[in-house]
Amino acid sequence: MESGTAGTSTENEKAGSNGAPPAAAETLEVLNPATGETIAQVPIDSPEAVAKTVARVRAAQPDWEAMGIEGRYHWLGKLRDWILDNQDRILDTMQRETGKVRADASNEPAYLVDLINFYGTRAAEFIGEEAIRPHSPLLASKKLRVQYRPHPVVGIISPWNFPLVLSLGDAIPALQAGAAVVIKPSEFTPLGIAELVEAWRHEVGAPDVFDVVQGIGETGGALVDNVDFVQFTGSDRTGRKVMARAAETLTPVSLELGGKDPMIVLADADIDRAANAAAWGGMFNSGQVCISVERIYVEEPIYDEFTTKLAAEVGKLRQGSDTARDPKDVGAMTSPNQIGIVEDQVDDALAQGARALTGGKRVAGSGDFFEPTVLVDVDHTMKVMRDETFGPVVGVMKVRDEEEAVRLANDTRYGLSGSVFGARDHAERVARRVECGAVNVNDVLINYFASDVPMGGWKESGIGYRHGAPGIKKFCRTESLVITRFAGKREPTWYPYTRARRGLIARLSQLTYARDWRRRFGLKR
Ligand code: NAD
Repeated sequence: MESGTAGTSTENEKAGSNGAPPAAAETLEVLNPATGETIAQVPIDSPEAVAKTVARVRAAQPDWEAMGIEGRYHWLGKLRDWILDNQDRILDTMQRETGKVRADASNEPAYLVDLINFYGTRAAEFIGEEAIRPHSPLLASKKLRVQYRPHPVVGIISPWNFPLVLSLGDAIPALQAGAAVVIKPSEFTPLGIAELVEAWRHEVGAPDVFDVVQGIGETGGALVDNVDFVQFTGSDRTGRKVMARAAETLTPVSLELGGKDPMIVLADADIDRAANAAAWGGMFNSGQVCISVERIYVEEPIYDEFTTKLAAEVGKLRQGSDTARDPKDVGAMTSPNQIGIVEDQVDDALAQGARALTGGKRVAGSGDFFEPTVLVDVDHTMKVMRDETFGPVVGVMKVRDEEEAVRLANDTRYGLSGSVFGARDHAERVARRVECGAVNVNDVLINYFASDVPMGGWKESGIGYRHGAPGIKKFCRTESLVITRFAGKREPTWYPYTRARRGLIARLSQLTYARDWRRRFGLKR
């Protein structure tokens, strides 16, 4: 297989590029986490192959940029149509490599086609050339313009929990901005995005400005070394490494990192809605969502009713390998390491006096499943309330009042998003005090689908934003044009410095910038 192209090989065709079976270190073994079966072997791209791929798309980027916003939307629109026409195929791959249930997987294509239309129709507003009126009379002879030119090649490094949303979801605004894009997906989920890039190149027949490279940290590091902008989504631990590496070449980065999202339930909340939201917000995608509900703070008067309803809702979720005949609600843990992290946090909490109202342990048998779990009697000394869990587990604490709820919600090194349930105005007031990049009032996770508004992490949850104007502007460099409309042979501030011109700047400043007439005319010292 050609390096840096989107193909993968199935178990039956494990040959390397020279036809001989590749050594183990040269391929990624892809498992179906719901069954434990090996579903593909994917050749790893060496640092040299990454450099070649970046150079190839870099060569095609100027023509792509020259196509303009409409020209690029034409091709992205064709990709949108391909996604809509191939949803089943996409969902099959997604389920096989992540172990998600179908209903969870179906959010990915829906999000992507909406995002293509969103940026396609708003790019002119967000990154079109801006005409700016000079703020000072001293610049009256100038025409000011700002144009947004893309970073030529954007490298995207993505995690395994939403293999398409968190890779193509950033590629869409980057491509729409005029950049070429190379994605390094997670080593656990390389197949879905490879299939889409393959479609872009061969079925859509779009320009050669979009590719994928496969591998682990070494491949990701090589991508950082070769591109002009890095969009990273993953753990804060790896995010720090990526930023340090990018610093060596002064390459700008945008980091979307982990979270420990709080949910506050005020005494005047609709308790049924809050409990149903907590169940879905905590268990959707088996809790493997950066903006999952992980910690819940409930005001004392409604605590018992809320926890009873939440435990009942979570307790009846169907878990397992999801098929058309036997649909399920909660799927597998996608990364083989993750189930151990979740188990460790739950065991730690139980050992320190927490109680599981439902769930609480790993599911025996094939596949990596952890029971949907509701923990109570938890506190902030426990890992499950401090560290990102990234699994189907929520911890619920009783709080005296909203002050305590806000204090505990903000008692974290993370700040990705959160939610507040209560009477609307009351909940909105409390939401404004939660320290994070996005807060939902009487809903959960929905901010991710509100592409109109930016979303990004505060504190150790990240640097930079996706969605809204910042989500496409970040892939551009601003170029300011200061254009002289009319002029003589010299400006008054240029040489020669004559007697008359000495002190000119000071006098002009006084005349222009003073806000009282005494200073303006030098009558006040
Ligand atoms: P991870 O940090 O382990 O890996 C992310 C990516 O980085 C993978 O593609 C990996 O191969 C690559 N990588 C690893 N080492 C590297 C290195 N040294 N240089 C360059 N690349 C390297 O994260 P993960 O386990 O795949 O994903 C889970 C994490 O992602 C969680 O913390 C979750 O909260 C976070 N996440 C954040 C968001 C967000 O939008 N803020 C969204 C989803 C997931």
